Amino acid sequence: MRLNWLNRLYEAFSHDIGIDLGTANTLIYVKGHGIVIVEPSIVAINQKTGRIVAIGNDAKQMVGRTPAHLETVRPLVDGVISNFEVTEEMLAYFIKRVTQLGAKKFFRPRVVIGVPSGITNVEIRAVRDAAKNAGARVVHIVEEPMAAAIGIRLPVHDPVGTMIVDIGGGTSDIAVISLGGIVKSKNLRIAGDRFNQDIISYVRDEFKILLGEKTAEEVKMAIGAVWKQTEPMEATIRGRDLVTGLPKEVIITDSDIQEAIAVSISNLVESIKEVLETTPPEVISDIMNKGLILVGGGALFPGIKTLLEYELKIPITIADDPLTAVVRGTGIILERLEEHRGVLVPDDDRLPPN
Ligand code: ADP
Ligand code: MG
Repeated sequence: MRLNWLNRLYEAFSHDIGIDLGTANTLIYVKGHGIVIVEPSIVAINQKTGRIVAIGNDAKQMVGRTPAHLETVRPLVDGVISNFEVTEEMLAYFIKRVTQLGAKKFFRPRVVIGVPSGITNVEIRAVRDAAKNAGARVVHIVEEPMAAAIGIRLPVHDPVGTMIVDIGGGTSDIAVISLGGIVKSKNLRIAGDRFNQDIISYVRDEFKILLGEKTAEEVKMAIGAVWKQTEPMEATIRGRDLVTGLPKEVIITDSDIQEAIAVSISNLVESIKEVLETTPPEVISDIMNKGLILVGGGALFPGIKTLLEYELKIPITIADDPLTAVVRGTGIILERLEEHRGVLVPDDDRLPPN
C-alpha cells in the first residue's frame, strides 16, 4: 500500500519519455512537451582515447571529414544495436539533455521505446538494457510499426486490418496490424542506406566517380524519385575521378537515381507482395478498402505512392509527417498507458533467446 503511494508520488515527479531509436535518426518525445529531440543516430569517437567527442547533429557534420584519429560510427545497424556501449552513451546523452527540462531532473524517467518488428529477444533485451543503463527507471518496449500506427491515430485495437510500411535508414518494416497485435510482418535490410549505396555504385560504374556516402544521401534527397517525374530534375555532384584520382563534377538526373535504386525498390515491392500473399483473406479485404500506409523517411520519395499503387493495386496513403510517426506513437502510449498496455512487448527476462 505504502509502496504504491510512493510509486505514484514518484511518477508525478518523474519524466515520461518516448524514444524512436532509429538507425538513421533518434527522436525523443517528453510527456507534456512534445517532440524535443530529432537528431541523427551518429557518434564521433576519438580512436586514441576511446572517448566520444560528438553526438547527433554535431557528429553528422563530421561524417566523411574526420582526421585519422577520429571516427564517426552509427551504433545501430540494420535496425539493431551493433555497438552496445556507444548506443548506451548516445541514449544517456539524449536522455540527460531532455530530463534537464523543468524541475524534474532528479528523477529517473519512465521510457517507451520502439524496436523493429521481428527482432530477437536477445536484441530486445539489449535495447532494454541500454535504456536502463542510460538512466531509465522503467522501460516499455513497443514494435515500431505498432507505434507508428498509434502515432498516426489508426484504430489499432479494432477488428480491422491495416498495413504499415516503414521505410527507414537501415531497414524497412512491413506489418499488418489488427486487434492490437501484429498479424504478419517482415523486416528487410532494404531502406535508405541501401539506396545510398546503390547510388554510389551507379555513379562509380556510369561516371567513374567515387562519391562519399553523405553526398549520395544529399543527392537522393534533392532529386531522388522512384517514378518518372513530369519536371526532370538534376543536380551537380562532386567526387573523386577514379581514373585521374582528381576531383570531378558531373550532372546527374532524377532518372539516373531511379535507375540506380530500381533493383532495391523492386525487392522492396516483392517483399510487400509476399506479406500480402500470406495475410488472411478477411484482413486483405480491409487492406484493399483502406489501403496501405507509408511512414519513415522513405515515404518522402517522390513517386512512391504512384509506384506502389501501380505494383500492388491497392490504395496507398503517405502518413502526415512520416518521420515522426513512431515517436508520436510512443508519446500517445505514454499518455494512455493503460489503454495501450496490450501492445507492449512483455517484460520477461525468462524469454527464450528467440
Ligand atoms: P530510421 O527510423 O531508420 O532512423 P528514418 O525513418 O528516420 O529512419 O528515415 C531515414 C531515411 O530516410 C534516411 O535513409 C534518409 O536518407 C531517408 N530520407 C529522408 N528524407 C527523404 C526523402 N525526401 N527522399 C528519400 N529518402 C529520404
Ligand atoms: Mg524508424
